Amino acid sequence: MSKEQLRENFYAQDVETVKNKFGVTADGLSEVEAKKRFEEYGANALEEGETKTLLQKFFDQFKDFMILVLLAAAFISGALGELSDAFIILIVVVLNAALGVFQEAKAEEAINALRQMASPMARVKRGGSVVSIKSEDIVPGDLVLLEAGDVVPADLRLIEANSLKVEEAALTGESVPVEKEMILVEDDAPLGDRVNLAFSSTNVTYGRGAGVVIGTGMNTEVGHIANMLANAEESKTPLQENQDQLGKSLTVLILAIAAIMFVVGLLNGRDWLEMLLTSISVAVAAIPEGLPAITTIILALGTQKMAKRNALVRKLPAVETLGGTEVICSDKTGTLTMNQMTVEKVYYNGQIHDVSDDISLSIPVMKVMNFANDTEISNDGRLIGDPTETAMIQFGIDKGLKLKEELVKEPRVAEVPFESDRKLMSTIHEQATGNYFVATKGAPDELLKRCTHIDVNGEVREMTDADRESILDANHSLAVQALRVLAMAYKFVDAVPATMDSASVEHDLVYAGMIGMIDPERPEAAAAIATAKGAGIRTIMITGDHRDTAQAIATRLGIIEEGQSGAVLTGAELNEQSEEEFARNVEKYSVYARVSPEHKVRIVKAWQNHGKVVSMTGDGVNDAPSLKTADIGVGMGITGTEVSKGASDMVLADDNFQTIVVAVEEGRKVFANIQKAVQFLLSANLGEVLSLFVATFLGWTILEPVHILWINLVTDTFPAIALGLEDAEADIMEQKPRGRSSNFFSNGVGGAIIYQGILEGAITLFVYWWGSSNPMLEHTGELAHMDAETMAFITLGMIQLFHAYNSKSVYKSIFQVGIFSNKTLVYATILSAVLLLGVILTPVLNTFFGVSQLTGLQWAVSVGSAFAIVPIVEIVKAIQRAMGKK
Ligand code: ATP
Repeated sequence: MSKEQLRENFYAQDVETVKNKFGVTADGLSEVEAKKRFEEYGANALEEGETKTLLQKFFDQFKDFMILVLLAAAFISGALGELSDAFIILIVVVLNAALGVFQEAKAEEAINALRQMASPMARVKRGGSVVSIKSEDIVPGDLVLLEAGDVVPADLRLIEANSLKVEEAALTGESVPVEKEMILVEDDAPLGDRVNLAFSSTNVTYGRGAGVVIGTGMNTEVGHIANMLANAEESKTPLQENQDQLGKSLTVLILAIAAIMFVVGLLNGRDWLEMLLTSISVAVAAIPEGLPAITTIILALGTQKMAKRNALVRKLPAVETLGGTEVICSDKTGTLTMNQMTVEKVYYNGQIHDVSDDISLSIPVMKVMNFANDTEISNDGRLIGDPTETAMIQFGIDKGLKLKEELVKEPRVAEVPFESDRKLMSTIHEQATGNYFVATKGAPDELLKRCTHIDVNGEVREMTDADRESILDANHSLAVQALRVLAMAYKFVDAVPATMDSASVEHDLVYAGMIGMIDPERPEAAAAIATAKGAGIRTIMITGDHRDTAQAIATRLGIIEEGQSGAVLTGAELNEQSEEEFARNVEKYSVYARVSPEHKVRIVKAWQNHGKVVSMTGDGVNDAPSLKTADIGVGMGITGTEVSKGASDMVLADDNFQTIVVAVEEGRKVFANIQKAVQFLLSANLGEVLSLFVATFLGWTILEPVHILWINLVTDTFPAIALGLEDAEADIMEQKPRGRSSNFFSNGVGGAIIYQGILEGAITLFVYWWGSSNPMLEHTGELAHMDAETMAFITLGMIQLFHAYNSKSVYKSIFQVGIFSNKTLVYATILSAVLLLGVILTPVLNTFFGVSQLTGLQWAVSVGSAFAIVPIVEIVKAIQRAMGKK
């Protein structure tokens, strides 16, 4: 618990007073002071809800329906005097509860690790420099900088607000962003009216600002209502929910079968006690109690694998959905390209110049691009900011511009920040002469609309249609070279406009020129797009850039073919289509240019209209709605705003498109592996039920309850988990996406479970029949029966272990997949075999388990028949492959 923090009406006190109280200067706290305060006040984090103890977790497992049935079975067996049966069932129950605890721990560990990696960052000023630190490390008195897209990391008293707007719905329920102001507020003002404060966990939607931290952790407004915040993501995945449902239905079905067996056995004249115990054992064996835990473990391991490959999954269901992805919508800048901009061309006075040309420092293009620019130059000369802007500053530096000196002469006094909707930004600079210089830069088409004049060789005159045309021509010729083009304009005004918005600032501008910047494609992007294509996944490129630039880059990346301009749609064209029209046409378009974030929601919905599983990337604060609408919202770890990351299902640690494709591959693998475990477990259970069910009808007792229970205990869980660790099948990215409606019985798994279960049952019955017809020479009566039972025991147990290898692939031969490719499976099956056969090979256990020593031939028939499942399934698979199944 942190020490009591200062809590006062800071909103009613002026900035200097607040700063003094917290002992902070314009340079922020020193690192030493910050460290001291961290120790005093603790981490800036909300306290976690109650965490369960291990014991609580263990007992929680006993709430499961399947487990309750097992407990009842143990109780009945015990009451009937069958202590060994009761004991084995209890081992099953305890082992299973332990597995449950293990899976919870695994899942928790995975989620915590992911939370840790995706933990929000904040920018603070410490010791005079701006640093990015974990929000957790913020202390009272820290100077926090805010900009659009940030999540406010603590409660702040603002000391600066430039058009700062904050959405405080989490706190006040008011979804319209509040404009923050630097005015003093009445002492008794309600929370929503304290406009000079910014509250922890609210979202900055516009503008910039800075503030002093007045409260951290639990001592914030949101800390007081901490329970309101759902921070833990513990929702079950659709697969897990399906599985819970399946588990319940199977349990009921199996209980019914067991009841029928009991009745039929009695009618056949069997001892009721023996028959009751047999029915109970069948129920125990056939209920797939380990399945939910195994699924969660496989999912949790999947998230860890993905994290190693830079894909941080924030919600468990995403692992599963990812594998089903059919359309990947990706931003261009930074995801498909490097976001490393370099100025290549400059256009002014009607001519395109190369950067290497002799370019004068006094041209207005140069001034505007350096003035209307938020890049920060650190003390050691590094450029910090948006690559589009740092490129311009770099260009100025290369040409010898002394920007800092210029800005002392003409300081910035106001600004209209950049917005991707508007595609422009402006700053206003005070002149020595008393008037003001307005610098505006942005997308040429947008800027041109706001220009009335043009500057040619220092002479300003009205802009003609011919001027516009030649500017657009120049823009086109730069854009088709895949260059990002930005235009610059300026004007002089007598006073700073009363309201700082686009309408009052960005009009009647003087056009100055343009620059063309190259942003190279990521070297691995084209290959990743090709891989996705091979996997039946469509890549859609979305960009705020010009149509020609977008088309040129998309062509280079292989998203569209040379000259395929019909596949490119601009935001303006999209606006002209109705929802229905667009939904009908959406499959035609692969590239969207000059779009705004709100277009992304329409794109996602149109694809979802076609039943597709859509993933969408986003980085800005306005991308949050589309990230939430998409089946998989993909946030950017490096350049993404905290708000966009919070809205995502998965965050790319490296912002790289290729990582999405890699994650899809992992997702496919996880799904396939869960299917393998399901196939293995359910076919084994079916085999057990069928052999015993049919035997009861034939009047045979092929296994004692203790045998059934032991087989279930030692052969089920270990191989199933091991199957979850299988490598991806080599052609996993050559198959079509599995689509929205698939479940774990899809793609042939359901059919495989049934025929393989029948096969297991039939082979076991055959071995029992053979064993009772060919007992050991000296054995008769009860002893001969014991021989046959022992053989059935070996066969039913071993058949499952052999079958685990069949389950490595639904249609592929194990020789194609590699028999020993999964070491864990090899060890798991060896362990299971030792536990199974040890019962027969260890003399003391013989009597307890009621098994006999077999002859070589009996061993050979038992193990050989069990092994037969491998060649038989291989033949079936070969036939299926010949019939075109993949
Ligand atoms: P993506 O390709 O990932 O959608 P983008 O960078 O192309 O991202 P935005 O950042 O929304 O998209 O930019 C849209 C347009 O706005 C750009 O093409 C450019 O013309 C203009 N623009 C971008 N950054 C700035 C900036 N800092 N100042 C002024 N205009 C900008």
